[in-house]
Amino acid sequence: MEEKDKPSAAARSYLLGELTWPEAKKRFAEVDVALLPVGAIEQHGPHLPLDTDAFDADYLSRQVAARCSDPKPLVLPLIPYGVSYQHDDFSGTISISNETMAQLVYEIGINAARNGIKKLIIINGHGGNGPALNFAAQKINREKRIFVGVDSGETSDVDIYGMIDTPNDIHAGEIETSTALALRPHLVKMALAKKEVPKFSIRYLNFTAQRWISWYAYTTRISSSGVIGDPTKANAEKGAKMWETMIEHLVNLVEELKSMSLEELYQLRY
Ligand SMILES: [Zn+2]
Repeated sequence: MEEKDKPSAAARSYLLGELTWPEAKKRFAEVDVALLPVGAIEQHGPHLPLDTDAFDADYLSRQVAARCSDPKPLVLPLIPYGVSYQHDDFSGTISISNETMAQLVYEIGINAARNGIKKLIIINGHGGNGPALNFAAQKINREKRIFVGVDSGETSDVDIYGMIDTPNDIHAGEIETSTALALRPHLVKMALAKKEVPKFSIRYLNFTAQRWISWYAYTTRISSSGVIGDPTKANAEKGAKMWETMIEHLVNLVEELKSMSLEELYQLRY
């Protein structure tokens, strides 16, 4: 690598894994917000790579940290695996259990708190991780009394669903294919992208409806290709817009969290 292409140490001081321990000590004294990206290694239809959720969660966390003002939040190393048993019928899915995920995140959270983190945001790239992550978040909060939040897209879903017109587009569909085309077009096999939009007998089962219940099913029950949504409508331009929206809202959240003590955080200000 050419000298000029190397990222300077200062420029990447938000990546915990790239710091030495004295550097980490200094950074923990400067900032008490950390981001923990959590992904999955699972089927994403015949056209997207298995690591889509892992790559996306890591990319989002790094972009958010990079765009925050100094001192930037720390990004903890990615947890690449997720709770993906629902995709077990498709080759390449490597899943961990809810118990393992919850325990792993709980221990990482406790250790982050031990180092001085008071606000931990879990950046979740895969919906199936949600229950385990929320369980872990509660346990960390109960034990360390720090702020722990889980974002599985809730900070920007309302905007992103407004950018597409396919209902139930939740997996390897228009959204995920667009965001992949924006970042890694060489890994997207658009010629194989297939529309598969499930319709359910009860309207409360629709994943993207305003009124619904959370529920769980093996993917092969509702999709033969593994796609749930319409990837044929995806494009890189839409994807870039989606990334901007996701990054912007999380930057806003982190900046607000950074500016407040735990005591101030729980006070009504609006
Ligand atoms: Zn995904």
